[in-house]
Amino acid sequence: MGWGRTGLERVILADSNSFVVADTYGLRLGERLSEQELAQGTAIIVNGQRVGTLWLTTTTPPGVLSQEDLFTRSVTVAIILAGIAVLILAGLAGFFLARRIAGPLSKLTKAVHRLAAGGWEQRLVLTGDEEIVQLVTAFNDMAARLEKYETMRRNLVADVAHELRTPLTVLRGQLESLQAGALEAKPEVIMSLHDEILRLSRLVHDLQELSLAEAKKLPLHQETFNLVEAVQKVLNFFQVEAEGKNITLTLNAEGQEIQVKGDRDRLTQVLINLLGNALRYTPPQGQVGVTIKEKSGEVSVSVADTGPGIAAADLPYVFERFYRPDKSRSRAQGGAGLGLAIAKGFVEAHGGRIWVESQPGQGTRFTFTIPVSRYNSSS
Ligand code: ATP
Ligand code: MG
Repeated sequence: MGWGRTGLERVILADSNSFVVADTYGLRLGERLSEQELAQGTAIIVNGQRVGTLWLTTTTPPGVLSQEDLFTRSVTVAIILAGIAVLILAGLAGFFLARRIAGPLSKLTKAVHRLAAGGWEQRLVLTGDEEIVQLVTAFNDMAARLEKYETMRRNLVADVAHELRTPLTVLRGQLESLQAGALEAKPEVIMSLHDEILRLSRLVHDLQELSLAEAKKLPLHQETFNLVEAVQKVLNFFQVEAEGKNITLTLNAEGQEIQVKGDRDRLTQVLINLLGNALRYTPPQGQVGVTIKEKSGEVSVSVADTGPGIAAADLPYVFERFYRPDKSRSRAQGGAGLGLAIAKGFVEAHGGRIWVESQPGQGTRFTFTIPVSRYNSSS
């Protein structure tokens, strides 16, 4: 009987007169089963005579829960409980996550405000999630860059003032001596005055070109021309200077003709700046070679020398304006430190790249590339 309550079926037993004598639910005792119910049951036959009926049924009386109902109900309860548990967990996780992110973010926001107000030295040290660490690293990089640019901006003004002062002092001194009669207006004196004026104008012109290039506003007079021929002309121009220093100057080109599209004067200027440096910094008996190569849609021009090379520490900065690793030496040789900055500006204005490779004591190689023009290009 107990099995009936917890098991799958309801069991009803009726006697030979169809009266219920046993019911696992105990509800129909004494009642008579209908013909239909008897038909559903199993007859109990003893010695060929029907002595009773056993009826296994799943129908449950009103108010008593069936197995399916019990199952559905327990599943529903479990789902609701699980839902509540998940909600509570998600809420807690959200709260802690928000606290972990909001804390560093508010620190970052403050640092950004201080940076915007001119506090260039702002750097943050924050530990936490990978994303936060990445954000902080990006912020620190940006701050370092801004600080560098700010320093460069300040230095630029100081450098320009410094570069202008030297020729102006010479001019002023000589003019005052002329006025006082201490110096005669001989042709050499006039020539030296003229030299200083030329130096000044070149400096101002260089600065102007550089600022135009850096602002990406350099007007380019584009034409298609033979680069090999243009390089050869510059080499011829430098040949006398090279011979004077006993330096071998060679050209290594893959052919007689490589057509490029660009501003011929400015690209020539790039080569003049690179070759000028190579000849200036390479000691006598050295070698300077120019190599032109065409490869995968671009042409590269290298200027290699056997000079003193550039220290690894200075390499990243040589293209910056007014940067001279050895100021006293370069000053004695007359450089302002603008040549490479201008070369870089001009090459980049043509959509090209420029870089340097150098081994101290072995030599230096500057290379720049520019896109090759299509031979059938329209302009
Ligand atoms: P400017 O070109 O304005 O007359 P500069 O030659 O000093 O002056 P850059 O041409 O910009 O300036 O060169 C920057 C510095 O890089 C030079 O002062 C020099 O120290 C170094 N440098 C450039 N080219 C070479 C080279 N071929 N070999 C060794 N050092 C070089
Ligand atoms: Mg130079």
